[in-house]
Amino acid sequence: MSAVLQAPADPLAQWRIAHEPYYRPVGDEVAQFRDACALRLPLLLKGPPGCGKTRFVEHMAWTLGLPLVTVACHEDMAAGDLLGRWLIDADGTRWQDGPLTLAARHGALCYLDELIEARPDALTVLHPLADTRRVLPLERNGELLVAHPRFQLVVSYNPQAGRDLRPATRQRFVAMAFDPPPVAAQVAIVVHESGLAVEQAMRLVGLAERTRALDEGADQAISMRMLVRAAQLIAGGMPARVACELALVQAWSDQPERVQALRALADALY
Ligand code: ADP
Repeated sequence: MSAVLQAPADPLAQWRIAHEPYYRPVGDEVAQFRDACALRLPLLLKGPPGCGKTRFVEHMAWTLGLPLVTVACHEDMAAGDLLGRWLIDADGTRWQDGPLTLAARHGALCYLDELIEARPDALTVLHPLADTRRVLPLERNGELLVAHPRFQLVVSYNPQAGRDLRPATRQRFVAMAFDPPPVAAQVAIVVHESGLAVEQAMRLVGLAERTRALDEGADQAISMRMLVRAAQLIAGGMPARVACELALVQAWSDQPERVQALRALADALY
């Protein structure tokens, strides 16, 4: 019986992006990201939630032809969750790469979303990977992994969340600041993402803009994510005022004064 040769399974298959993610540039961020990646510099994207950081990373990974390994960081996330662990199965024990190791070994873009949420030991493992060494010490596996030449590290965090990254961590990154897009871009994004008519999208964006006057600080304002949700509900047939209540008013705040203020704005519009 002749042996059948099989191509090795693609370890990054599930992380490849099939279609171009829509992203509307706001400035020179696409060229800046490309230049930083060409030099293998790790990138830190900072900005309030829902302003387009994740979508930008998805778009750039697709543009650069890189698989995208995304990790949503959380307070229980320790170094082992990023690096990997030994597993016991029927055949004995075997090492399983964590998402960071997988990306570094095979050459993917690793996006650590809301890095500040991770435990300090998880941040420390990034250090040798995020400076000129580009190595990942896997002590539990007895391996010093040299990152694949195409490996790219990108992290995000919200500076207004009240916690700061340690200088030893943040100074290893090139940082790009993200703000909510200008009004015309917001309208175009809402139209694209929901299929809503331009005039209706302008109303929603106008409502969000007025909340900025109510509250200082962009993280307090209505985000693009919320606007897109409201627009999708309206495009799906929900009455606009009801969609605003669900996707904007109630999602925005639990404080009665803020809820009342936004309700008054929504009542005036719809
Ligand atoms: P963040 O990662 O900053 O929290 P996201 O990237 O998830 O925010 O953005 C939330 C949503 O807003 C996206 O799913 C997308 O619909 C929309 N969005 C925001 N900015 C843009 C942009 N510049 N181009 C296209 N869509 C955008």
